[in-house]
This record gives sequence, C-alpha cells and structure tokens, in this order.
Amino acid sequence: MTLPFKTIDQLPIDGKKLLIREDFNVPITPEGKVADDTRIRMSLPTIEYALSKNCKIILMSHLGRPKGMRDSHLSLRPVAEALSNILGKTVTLAPDCIGPEVQSMAAKLGPERILMLENLRFHREETQNNPSFAQAIASLGEVYINDAFGAVHRAHASVASIPDYVKVKGAGFLLKKEVEALTHVLEAKTSRFVLILGGAKVSDKLGVLNSLMDKAQIILVGGAMAYTFLKAKGIDVGNSLVEKESLNDAEAIFKKAIETDTVLALPVDHVIATEIREDAPHKTTDTADIPSPYIGVDIGPKTIEAFSQHIRKATMIFWNGPMGVFEMAPFSRGTYAIARAVGASAGESVVGGGDSIRAIHESGAADQITHISSGGGASLEFLEGKPLPGIRALKTH
Ligand code: AMP
Repeated sequence: MTLPFKTIDQLPIDGKKLLIREDFNVPITPEGKVADDTRIRMSLPTIEYALSKNCKIILMSHLGRPKGMRDSHLSLRPVAEALSNILGKTVTLAPDCIGPEVQSMAAKLGPERILMLENLRFHREETQNNPSFAQAIASLGEVYINDAFGAVHRAHASVASIPDYVKVKGAGFLLKKEVEALTHVLEAKTSRFVLILGGAKVSDKLGVLNSLMDKAQIILVGGAMAYTFLKAKGIDVGNSLVEKESLNDAEAIFKKAIETDTVLALPVDHVIATEIREDAPHKTTDTADIPSPYIGVDIGPKTIEAFSQHIRKATMIFWNGPMGVFEMAPFSRGTYAIARAVGASAGESVVGGGDSIRAIHESGAADQITHISSGGGASLEFLEGKPLPGIRALKTH
C-alpha cells in the first residue's frame, strides 16, 4: 500500500528535536486524573521509537474545548503525569505552548528528554489555524511528526499549518496504522460489506452513507438517526428525535440505494419510552411505528435479530454509532447485541467512534475486532474520501 506520507521510520531523526502532535484528548476525573489512558498508550510506539533514536521530544495536544482561554481543569498536567508513570521517565510540562519560557525550555532539552507543551487550545489561534501561532510552535523543533489520527480532519494550526514551517515531516506509527486500516476498508473487494451506522446526528453520517453506498451491499441504520429515515418513509415515529433538515437527504439516500442495489435496513421494532430517562416507563413495539407521545430509545429484538443475521454473513464490517441511548441500562441492549454480533462475525471489522468502541470493550468483543479506530469523526471523513487537512499537510511533493 502506498501511503500519502513518509513515516517516522523513513525520516532522518537521529538525535533531532522532534515535535510530535498527539491526540491526548482523554477523559479527566474531577480529581484531575486520567480516567482512560487508551489514547496515551496508543502513542507509545512512536514515542518509544523516538527515544531509541536519541531524540529530544516535544509533545503537543489539545484537551477538551477551552475556547481559547486558560482553564486549569483542562491542563495537560494529568496526561504528563500518566505518560511519565507509563514510561518510567520524567515528562516535563511546559507552562504554555508558546512564549519565551517555552522557547528556553525547548532550547535546553537534552537527548531522550520529553517536554509536553500545555493545551494548544488555550490559544484561540490553534482552532483558527493561525500561521504565526503555527510558526512559533514549529520554531521549537526540527522535525514534525503527526500521530494524532483523531485530529487529522481538523484544519487547526498544530495539524494543518505547523508542517508548512518544518522541512522534515511525517506520520507516527498510530497515524500510519489508522490510514492503512481505513484504506483497506475502502479498497475492500467483497460482496458482503456491511456498514452499520447509529448515533444521533444524521448530518455527520450523510457523507459516509453517500460515499460508501457503491461499496457496501448492506447498510444497517439504528440509533436516533433511524427515525429521520423512518419519518422520510412516512412511518409514524411519535416524539423520537428527528433531524428535520436532513429529511430530504434521507429521501435522496433511499433513491440512491435503489440505483446502487444497496439494502438499506431500518429498525422494524423499537424500545420506546415516554422520556429519555433511565427510570422512564418503557416497552417494546411490535412494528416500526411509534405512537405519540413515545420516543424510540433502542432497536427492538426483531431488529437485533435481523441486523445480526446480516452481520454474521459479512466479510467486511464498518461500525460507527450506538443503536440507542446505550448510556442508560434499559436502552442499551441493542447496542451491546450489535457489538457482540460484530465481534462474533468471521469477517474483518473496523469500529470507530467513542460510543461504539465503549460498547465493544464492555461487551468483551474488543479482541475480535480487526481494527478499533482512535478517531470517530476522522475515520468517517477518511471513508468519505475527503482530503483531510492533517494528512494533506504531510505531503512532501
Ligand atoms: P453521535 O454523536 O451522533 O454518534 O450520537 C451518539 C449519541 O446518540 C449517544 O449519546 C446516544 O445516547 C444517542 N442516541 C442513540 N440513539 C438515540 C435515540 N434513539 N434517541 C436519542 N439519542 C440517541
């Protein structure tokens, strides 16, 4: 497979000062500890490789949405501590990501030492993709490595512009692995490609639906997004969440499904509740209709069975988005059943998006998945075939 960038092991990095863009956007507990270190662990192969090459390492990432202002709750300090514990090595946190003090710390950095810049989004210039901000950070190092797959679809300074100011640039091992796995999905030549989409926002998934329609033979739609499709078909969905502005798009998708001979499967029964509340009265419908004032909160048993049958026979699966309000135990059955079915399928499987990944882990199916993507939005945009700013920026020719 030809990759659209050089990878860290193809670059002359021995003893160099490396700027590595990581995706350390991890959940932090109210006590200021990292709640889930999966993303930190995913960054280790690249960091350890750089250490083995005597590099001076400067790590950078965003955390949360501080909206261009300092917010002590969104400091990367817990991440620096967690990484330091995992590596058994000091990780020094800089007081900021730009400025004279940071420049001096970066200038004094010795081989095999690690400096972590403070949250990039403490400066509005990061999300504004400001060139001077990008240049200021670029000047701290000699080589730029992007290993933040979860952020490559963002046209932000640290992703899209820093590479403009650095001669030697490339991808880390995580970014490489993600691009290889998703390219493999795109290039799959199979007659049993099953695309499973769920979650709430139809508009986020329209792009991938459209672009994979030629590729996937079967598309299973669950979660709140199914109600927009059911409504577009004229089915009564009661008070379920419907994205009115996407109804026309849903109709266009139905037409395209017929043209491309794609099966677009929607729920045929539901778990419905009077409110989206864990203890709200709920029941299971027998058909696809939802009477008012009920809200569809999960796919029903007949849908689980129908979807699982398609999944069982698949040779390639891509799944993004929960089948219901799975955060609430009474409405989580559909999502976990689909997670188990994806795990049990003999075909290749790629899962993206925080909710689906959580369901895969909690249902014990993680070991059976071919590739668990570290980027939800990024994996969807990659599969849409969109040029992603962070990948485009790594091109050297
Ligand atoms: P998204 O970010 O679009 O993937 O949406 C994920 C969210 O969709 C999760 O927090 C789910 O609780 C929510 N969700 C899934 N199914 C439903 C539903 N039937 N009604 C309301 N929210 C839902």
